[in-house]
Amino acid sequence: MYGLQNKVCLITGGAGSIGLATAQSLIESGARVALVDRDAEALEKAAEKLNCLPDNLLLLTADVSVEADAEKYVNATVEAFGRIDVLFSNAGNFGTIAPIQDYPTEAFDAVYAVHVRGAFLAAKYAVPHMTRGSSIIITSSVAGLRGDPGVYAYITAKHAQTGLMRVMAKELAPQGIRVNTINPGPVNNGFQQRVEDELSEEIGRDGTEFFDEIIPMGRHGQPEEIAQSVLYLASDQSSYTTGTVLLVDGGMNV
Ligand code: NAD
Repeated sequence: MYGLQNKVCLITGGAGSIGLATAQSLIESGARVALVDRDAEALEKAAEKLNCLPDNLLLLTADVSVEADAEKYVNATVEAFGRIDVLFSNAGNFGTIAPIQDYPTEAFDAVYAVHVRGAFLAAKYAVPHMTRGSSIIITSSVAGLRGDPGVYAYITAKHAQTGLMRVMAKELAPQGIRVNTINPGPVNNGFQQRVEDELSEEIGRDGTEFFDEIIPMGRHGQPEEIAQSVLYLASDQSSYTTGTVLLVDGGMNV
């Protein structure tokens, strides 16, 4: 459906929920996939879940915020598969929720290191291996369009990813490389559950119910629903779409 046969797709945060669901969909579309994650054990488990030929999958343990790691995982992908057609920059962490005066600076820096520095480094090393028709997708979030009390690191880092996407979209358009963000709303997975547990403590009511009430569709998204939108942006089906923020949020941002 998406014409992704033999495309080479590099996914950071590939052992996590959205990364793995996307890898599964890409593999079902005939793509070759390199999964990058700092959690080596989770990568092995992810590979067991994926139903694919060993030649079509590469597992790379790396910290996306470390420049030498970025250079290594990009080079390893190119060595194995010859090029990069799709970069899905998706690794993420949340930090914490706290009033500005109490917000731990280390948590702030750690979140920026993954989302902003990590997405920047991935593109910096991948772009030289991309050709006309390639696509970069960054997982931002509805958090990249909102302001919620105390969510200093995550919300501002997700906004920064939009800035990074916009700069790259304009710069790389003449080379035929498209760059977009995908902005999920709350997804039914462990990452969001941890956020909601912390939120429940902050607001004194159930964090999951809080979100379901402000999502017009009345439910969380599934990782597979996010994956389908990534495939659209990865493929030539979206050949005239660059510099765009694609919300996949059940209407939360309306
Ligand atoms: P997840 O925790 O299942 O996956 C994130 C993955 O990133 C993990 O496997 C983790 O090991 C990896 N990672 C973290 N730091 C890393 C680093 N420094 N180097 C390499 N890998 C690293 O969570 P997820 O929901 O699949 O999150 C994927 C992306 O989606 C994140 O960017 C997150 O901010 C974004 N997002 C999630 C939701 C949600 O509700 N879960 C909503 C909107 C956006």
